[in-house]
Amino acid sequence: MKIAIIGASGKVGSATAVLLAKEPFMKDLVLIGREKSLNKLEGLKMDLYDAVAGARSDANIYVSTDENLKCVEDCDIVIITSGVPRTEGMSRVELAKINAKIVKNYVKKISEITDTKIFMITNPVDVMTYKAYIESSYNREQVFGLGTHLDSLRFKVAIAKFFKVHIDEVRTRIIGEHGETMVPLLSATSIGGIPIEKFNNFKNLPLDDIIEDVKHKGEKIIKLKGGSEFGPASAIVNVVRCIANNEKRLLTLSTYLDGEYGLKDLCIGVPVKVGREGIEEIVEIELKEDERNAFLKSAERIKKYCEEVKYI
Ligand code: NAP
Repeated sequence: MKIAIIGASGKVGSATAVLLAKEPFMKDLVLIGREKSLNKLEGLKMDLYDAVAGARSDANIYVSTDENLKCVEDCDIVIITSGVPRTEGMSRVELAKINAKIVKNYVKKISEITDTKIFMITNPVDVMTYKAYIESSYNREQVFGLGTHLDSLRFKVAIAKFFKVHIDEVRTRIIGEHGETMVPLLSATSIGGIPIEKFNNFKNLPLDDIIEDVKHKGEKIIKLKGGSEFGPASAIVNVVRCIANNEKRLLTLSTYLDGEYGLKDLCIGVPVKVGREGIEEIVEIELKEDERNAFLKSAERIKKYCEEVKYI
């Protein structure tokens, strides 16, 4: 596969590059960034060749700071992690508008150059996925965001620890916004194939605390160590691996809805089947009434932001 990372000089971009470079399906990895970060990208490339050699992989690594993005030609996937962080006093809408301009600039160029898939990571990820979709000329199968995949993984760990079971025994997901209004789906949570609500100890599960923790995990990690990169990078590579190996897994990614779940013209985290074509199916599942209400509330919030960035 040929994969480009735009924003490779950043924490998430570079951590993703390390994990990706070692994957057996990687042929060409392109690290893209701004001219001012050229040295950083060249250093990252050298470091990555060491990592690749140690992992006995044979990938080629390239660096580009070309603003025209010619290097994305023939890419199977373009991952976008570029964006400014939210600073003190900056509202969420302001952040969304600034990052939407960055995303628009890249996506317009990419879609003029090549037919690829765009994988959005930049926050607010649902809104940026929407912006990427409407500014590209691609089908919705080709444009998706990390959505609540990472949140779902965090929820999965918390459940495995509480019930003291191996993480592989837990199946769960969080849908909705990657943010404050995310919705944990207990109705889609099982341990060893048994619905979680059937376990005696379920009544003691501190669900509200766990969800609060999942919601603010990213911020907490950033506060403690200056950045959250390995978790996001690992979640990103999970998705890429599904595409590369045509795995047809059900992941919870941000995708454009056009009537599914009764919603239109927004991107939000829902279960999707992921394979070689990207989002191969949007999986509509029956939700319990409280889950459905919370999901609609989450969608309402994202939709407002989508409208704010639609025409900028
Ligand atoms: P970071 O270390 O600050 O890196 C930001 C990247 O964006 C750098 O490559 C930077 O390039 C680039 N950039 C900044 N301003 C730019 C501009 N005006 N134009 C073009 N590129 C610009 O941030 P990070 O920790 O890697 O996070 C990257 C993004 O991923 C953030 O939006 C973060 O919130 C998001 N994220 C999402 C999830 C998720 O689950 N969806 C998880 C973690 C992080 P320079 O090096 O040239 O400055």
